[in-house]
Amino acid sequence: MTIPVLPQSPEIAPQPADPLDHLTDRLFHRMGADGVYARTALYEDMVERLAALITRHREPGTEVMRFPPVMSRAQLEKSGYLKSFPNLLGCVCGLHGTERDINAAVSRFDAGGDWTTSLSPADLVLSPAACYPVYPIAASRGAPPKGGLRFDVAADCFRREPSRHLDRLQSFRMREYVCIGTPNDVSAFRERWMVRAQAIARDLGLSFRVDQASDLFFGRVGQMKAVSQKQQSLKFELLVPLRSEDQPTACMSFNYHREHFGTTWDIVDANGEPAHTGCVAFGMDRLAVAMFHTHGTEQNKWPSPVREILGLERQAVVAD
Ligand code: 5GP
Ligand code: ZN
Repeated sequence: MTIPVLPQSPEIAPQPADPLDHLTDRLFHRMGADGVYARTALYEDMVERLAALITRHREPGTEVMRFPPVMSRAQLEKSGYLKSFPNLLGCVCGLHGTERDINAAVSRFDAGGDWTTSLSPADLVLSPAACYPVYPIAASRGAPPKGGLRFDVAADCFRREPSRHLDRLQSFRMREYVCIGTPNDVSAFRERWMVRAQAIARDLGLSFRVDQASDLFFGRVGQMKAVSQKQQSLKFELLVPLRSEDQPTACMSFNYHREHFGTTWDIVDANGEPAHTGCVAFGMDRLAVAMFHTHGTEQNKWPSPVREILGLERQAVVAD
């Protein structure tokens, strides 16, 4: 007798294993939402060591700023984010009504109903990248000096793309170096960083390649923007083959925005032209995942030069 095999409903069908899944239990605690994780001490220590390594490569004359995970909604709207990535944006909402309205929403929830229908948007969005807030701050200071301005910025970023893959988080840390100046200032900055970033990846023992890339602009018009971005070589990425050579993961990006932010925020360069801007972004969470995927979760077995560069050797000596 054969036992009939019933088709499984999508809810209980087992998820196909992902090549990064073996890391989940050592690096993260699940928090009940895809792409949002609590981090273990082992993982967080690595993020801090990578951040320190990136700091050691900071160019002289770079101003440090750290941003909160939220930013002004008006500023992000003005930056044109809704024209490019409206699908990824997270907006802060609140119960802004009277005491009566708010109590009614809570009572609805208590009775098993939906309280969220009473929400209305606040003047804040969740920052989708670390560099957006720096341009209006720079603009408020007047024209950048000769040679341009350089910033070191970081923020917890949010992009609304739930996924079970450990390299596609909704909430992740981004560190960036930003340059504001003439086209030459920005091109030279980006070229220096593309060389330096590859040296960092090599020091970390990662396999990688750097390739031209485009952003995942929203919709059909977005596809045209992506083609134009590639044609103009505005974006490069440092790609690490975490799940496959065919679909590598971008762990860093090197972006040239041309005069977009200069025009938006009325920043004028040393020649009286709209300033150009560019940034190099380090995905801190992707880099940390890449390290554990490449070298394993037992750090004492990592190659000695990699341990050395991250300060793990010194720690062992001190512990002895
Ligand atoms: P970009 O602005 O170039 O899309 O992102 C900059 C960097 O942030 C990327 O190179 C990547 O390292 C990181 N990043 C972008 N999206 C995600 C994501 O969904 N999850 C994680 N962990 N990092 C991301
Ligand atoms: Zn940026």
